[in-house]
Amino acid sequence: MSLPVQADTIFALSSGSLPAGVAVIRVSGPLTKAVLLRHCGALPAERKAVLRSIASERGELIDRGLVVWFQSPSSFTGEDVAEFHLHGSIAVADAMLASIGAIEGCRLAEPGEFTQRAFLNGRLDLTAAEGLADLIEARTEMQRRQALRNSTGEQERLYEGWRHAIVELLALIEAELDFADEGDVSSLSVEALVGTAGGLICSIDQHLSRYASAEIVRNGYRVVIVGPPNVGKSSLFNHLVQRDAAIVTAIAGTTRDVLEVELSIGGHRVILTDTAGLRQTDDPVELIGIDRARRAAMGSDLVIALRDGEPMHPLAPGIEAEILDVVTKADLHDAGIGSGSLRVSSVTGAGVPELLAAIAERVDRLVDVEEAVPTRRRHVNALETCRRHLRNVGSVRDTVLNAEELRLAAAALGRLTGRIDVEDILDAVFSRFCIGK
Ligand code: GDP
Repeated sequence: MSLPVQADTIFALSSGSLPAGVAVIRVSGPLTKAVLLRHCGALPAERKAVLRSIASERGELIDRGLVVWFQSPSSFTGEDVAEFHLHGSIAVADAMLASIGAIEGCRLAEPGEFTQRAFLNGRLDLTAAEGLADLIEARTEMQRRQALRNSTGEQERLYEGWRHAIVELLALIEAELDFADEGDVSSLSVEALVGTAGGLICSIDQHLSRYASAEIVRNGYRVVIVGPPNVGKSSLFNHLVQRDAAIVTAIAGTTRDVLEVELSIGGHRVILTDTAGLRQTDDPVELIGIDRARRAAMGSDLVIALRDGEPMHPLAPGIEAEILDVVTKADLHDAGIGSGSLRVSSVTGAGVPELLAAIAERVDRLVDVEEAVPTRRRHVNALETCRRHLRNVGSVRDTVLNAEELRLAAAALGRLTGRIDVEDILDAVFSRFCIGK
């Protein structure tokens, strides 16, 4: 496959906001060599960090720093790439960016453009590009692990493996169609076809069942604190958040809205919600808060039902989430009260590690970051399309129709990775069978 040549050379500050210890400016495209020659005098050795004086075209020293040169195609984008590791000040980065921008044919990169070029040049597929975006945004350990798998091509290898298997089947039936009179092509029974398609459907089913886990890793596990007014919901919420995010007061019914924070518990992203107290009231504002609390609980994965030594308050119907019975203000009660439940105190912090462990344990049960997973609705849709076409295979004994279903199944996977390529099908046909035509 020939690489599409991008006319512009792009550059950007690839490291984070300044000032910082180091600023990394990345350049990619056909003028990269020229950029290096103009700023450092001579090309450094490939793929080695070399200390250089870096001067503008007018000969003014900009900084001294490390320069790394990657020759196409062995670079992130597949193009010629250079990296300048400079002192991380705003003035140094500005001077360097201005100096590169002064070269005709060099322009600032658009967001994601380096990765887009890497994709266009076949350095990574769409799922790896998405994984890379997730890795950059990862805030929790599980997000990092999940994103790393996908960014290093695990998803791609899986989908390409399936696509390859489908293309092989397709090759067999196409050969049957095209060269049925030749006698040197084995014929494929419908049963064998359905058997192979069935195996693939099983693998896709299994893989799709992991989407729920991937969603929790990416979007977070939702925990909602509910209970009657004054039971200590806001105090516990604040204790868990370790900052004063909710109003804590002794007057009943003051947390009238829903407050949300994001926490990392046991390496998992957890969205914790504090809600208005569930109680009978005529106050219209409080009623809205209570309604929101009920809805938050209904959309959650875990409800922490707080009680203050009293028996558990009956929860609104329709809450499907798991319910964790937690007795609060443990410092005020003797140990006998709520002895079978989790006992916490927001004043002393007693029981809070156990509560966090109980939450982490529940997320652990749902999350699996040990295998490649579909992480986006787009992945699920494409896999479902592929599965639908595979299910159609064999429903008729018509080779032409079966070939079409296989082609559509393979195309769905090809769109998923962005590696759709009809050449593959032709190659598979002609490399497998030495028909000699
Ligand atoms: P909410 O209405 O359920 O959000 O309850 P708050 O968090 O506002 O707490 C109501 C009152 O109980 C406040 O005066 C808190 O200081 C007090 N409180 C909350 N948790 C504890 C606790 O664990 N121990 C003690 N001793 N007091 C608490």
